Amino acid sequence: MTSPAQDFAMRAKALDDADPLRDYPSRFLGSDNPEIIAYLDGNSLGRPLRATADRLTSFVTDAWGGRLIRGWDEQWFDLPLTIGDRIGAAVLGAAAGQTTIGDSTTVLLYKIARGALACRGQRTEIVLDRDNFPTDRYLLEAIATELGLTLRWIEPEFTGGVTAQQVADAVSDRTALVVLSHVAYRSGYLLDAPAISTVVHDAGAVLLLDLCHSAGAVELELDSWAVDYAVGCTYKYLNGGPGAPAFGYVNAAHLDDFTQPIWGWMGRESPFEMAQGYVPAQGIRRVISGTPAIVGMLPIQDTLDLIEEVGMAAVRSKSIALTEFALELVRAWLLPLGVAVSSPTDPARRGGHVTIDHPQFKELTARLWQRGVIPDFRPPQGIRIGLSPLSTTYTEVLAGISAIRDELTAR
Ligand SMILES: *Cc1c(COP(=O)(O)O)cnc(C)c1O
Repeated sequence: MTSPAQDFAMRAKALDDADPLRDYPSRFLGSDNPEIIAYLDGNSLGRPLRATADRLTSFVTDAWGGRLIRGWDEQWFDLPLTIGDRIGAAVLGAAAGQTTIGDSTTVLLYKIARGALACRGQRTEIVLDRDNFPTDRYLLEAIATELGLTLRWIEPEFTGGVTAQQVADAVSDRTALVVLSHVAYRSGYLLDAPAISTVVHDAGAVLLLDLCHSAGAVELELDSWAVDYAVGCTYKYLNGGPGAPAFGYVNAAHLDDFTQPIWGWMGRESPFEMAQGYVPAQGIRRVISGTPAIVGMLPIQDTLDLIEEVGMAAVRSKSIALTEFALELVRAWLLPLGVAVSSPTDPARRGGHVTIDHPQFKELTARLWQRGVIPDFRPPQGIRIGLSPLSTTYTEVLAGISAIRDELTAR
């Protein structure tokens, strides 16, 4: 007879053996580092791909070191749009010409929210929610102060997220813009984007989605959902590296009228003419302000290579299987120790991570990090288990959650 722990170990191994994406984790640097028992934070900072180390080295030597300033004409000037289109096609469900790499997520969210509000007419309200990521809340507070607008706050459930009904209750003929995270950074709640898009449009407003915890984890159909604007991180599931610049999406329906507030030369029509007066470039290039962060956007291409190989449907299937397995272990081992699940149990309403709560988790997280089990802590008392589908194995999930159990029972 096998014990339940052995059963789970056999299950993890069987799941890894049968995983259609089983060859991918070993393509990441550090996957063979014996000191890292379980990396459960790929949704905060994705691991680097081995291909990225080669790409960066050859960029410095051949492109930057070899082509020098000529590199701008040959490739770099268009790179934000080239990578943007690849993200659009492989990850966002967006036709070409609507996506670009831009500034940091915070700055790009600010610019695109301001751009969206430039067309607000007499409307005076921004709808947002209390559980959105702090930067989203803060920058909208700043915009409301700057423009004299009112913030209308939705209060989502702690273990869930913003529902279409809550949005319907919040919007009116005063609403200019609705800003929501597609996957909630804490609970992992995956909102019903097509339903919410309809509710927002019925009220005559526009929708800006934050895709930081969605891009590279869940399937997106921005064009068919008629999402107006979107911004997302590239250093989380897209493994772009610390501080990699964000991507921004402006639906083609708005592009001709879109103006963002930072009028820089690189977003101008014919920037190298150095002409007087700002005239926005045609198309999505107008989202850009100054010289794009070329080095910072190189690694994204390696993750896109993988996603283009396997497709987002396979990535999402693995993501669901990983979070389902994690929840199974949490139910068996951690609920009896007083842990609570703070993420949706329905996989259709859940993104790529699972958050669990316990009063001891703050200090316990520090001890986990010391033993090479790396989730992250989210106040007030949550451990967020991020399961990046391309780089995480079921064996890692098992090792991570059994370490949490051991640390809790050792107290
Ligand atoms: C990670 C994250 C950000 C980060 O913004 P930065 O400007 O890159 O620091 C913003 N919004 C959400 C929802 C996030 O999860």
